[in-house]
Amino acid sequence: MTLNSLQSALSTPDLSLELDATQLRELVNTVLDHLAPHIDQLPDRPAWESPDDIAAEAIAAAPRPEGRSEWSTTLDELFSQRLSPSYNPASPGYLGYIPGGGLLHAAIADLIADVLNRYTTVWVAGPGLVQLETDVIRWFSDLMGLGPDAGGFLTTGGSLANWSAVFTARCCRLPEDFLKGTIYTSRQSHHSILRAAHLAGFPASRVRSIETDDDCRMDLAQLEQAITEDRRNGLTPFLLVGQGGSTNTGAVDPLETLADIAQREQLWFHVDAAYGGFFQLTERGRQQLAGIARADSITLDPHKGLFLPYGTGCLLVRSRQTLHAAHGMHADYLPPMQEDDDRIDYCQVSPELSRDFRSLRVWLPLKIHGFETFKNYLDEKLDLVQWTAQQLENIPSLEIITQPSLSILTFRLQPPGVTDLAINELNQQLLTEINRSGEVFLTATDLNGCFTIRICVLCFRTHLERLEACVQRIRDACQALTPAAS
Ligand SMILES: *Cc1c(COP(=O)(O)O)cnc(C)c1O
Repeated sequence: MTLNSLQSALSTPDLSLELDATQLRELVNTVLDHLAPHIDQLPDRPAWESPDDIAAEAIAAAPRPEGRSEWSTTLDELFSQRLSPSYNPASPGYLGYIPGGGLLHAAIADLIADVLNRYTTVWVAGPGLVQLETDVIRWFSDLMGLGPDAGGFLTTGGSLANWSAVFTARCCRLPEDFLKGTIYTSRQSHHSILRAAHLAGFPASRVRSIETDDDCRMDLAQLEQAITEDRRNGLTPFLLVGQGGSTNTGAVDPLETLADIAQREQLWFHVDAAYGGFFQLTERGRQQLAGIARADSITLDPHKGLFLPYGTGCLLVRSRQTLHAAHGMHADYLPPMQEDDDRIDYCQVSPELSRDFRSLRVWLPLKIHGFETFKNYLDEKLDLVQWTAQQLENIPSLEIITQPSLSILTFRLQPPGVTDLAINELNQQLLTEINRSGEVFLTATDLNGCFTIRICVLCFRTHLERLEACVQRIRDACQALTPAAS
């Protein structure tokens, strides 16, 4: 290309990717025309819909768009063709898996963060904004009682936080040739622990899944035996993972005793509190989680216990230096990194470089509502599951398998004289029946080979009214399936 033709090509740039202030306002309003009715109708919409009802065109491979499309038709496609059917973890009736939430304040924070598009992974690029993450991390680590040297970072979720924890423990406790290292966790732990171990380089043969007691808490005698045996075989126990609220039943391992064992055996003590950690805000939660303050690292999921939209996890460590030792790197093209301990370059303490300005999504709702509001909501969830347990106890042939632990309880229908196999089938039918109307959505798990139904209360929108409806559904379904008892 000649200079002239270059110059004429460059003199009329395509400006279609720009939005001016008026266009931005207009566009946001168009989006709000979809979102506002969505929020208004949320409580009346089903908590889940079966994927079997999906229209073929919604999941057909789409051709690559070459030209432009109208906003209105594109938004229509999203809201009217793709949104339904789906599970709705933002619904008050969603009591399956671990409910979501999706605080709207956090969604607005995301809009602000993405419009600003600041680079918050190195301190010099935006010290005031980077400090938001540092503050959030300090608020969380103070809540957990981790002490003055604590640090951490925000991740996309608990799985990534667990990975970074295992990796940090490996780097701090094992030699470069680390394959003699062994990891201890419970049979009830989240599968992301095993995956974290794999991703951190450990084969399954280096992970011990310790059996649990009747309350689904780690069996301490078996733990100690496994550690002793591994040492005898020339292996190097280095990491103990406790559950700060299991996904299955909400069980909290005896963290205080695990901390004693970790200390005596010189193991890194990690607590996976992705589900349960924020119950630390409540008196009852603090009692159950006693000992968490002695952890070397803790996984939290603000997108669970703080009701944030998906994509927000957190890893805390007792000593910031350990994160730095594991993740710190040098590159010639990056700005100089900070020496001052208070000026944190997040790329030096975490696995990511460029990332979204995710701290705003945590900071803004906390700042607007205060921790007290979240504490009150979490106390309500604890009350709700207690109330539900009391109601279920009055249903004939229904057996509570695990009493409420944090905000999860499990149950099963067990009419006398029915065989184990038939009981599993019966409970599968029961679950289908309970979920049929979409007013509530429960899920099941396998506890010692038994199909067991769970109720997990965590969405901020879930209140007494919905659990009354849930209990009524369960009562009706039980009656329909055990005609003899009616
Ligand atoms: C949800 C959960 C995880 C995984 O977190 P993600 O945010 O889904 O990646 C890990 N551990 C426990 C106990 C959980 O409940």
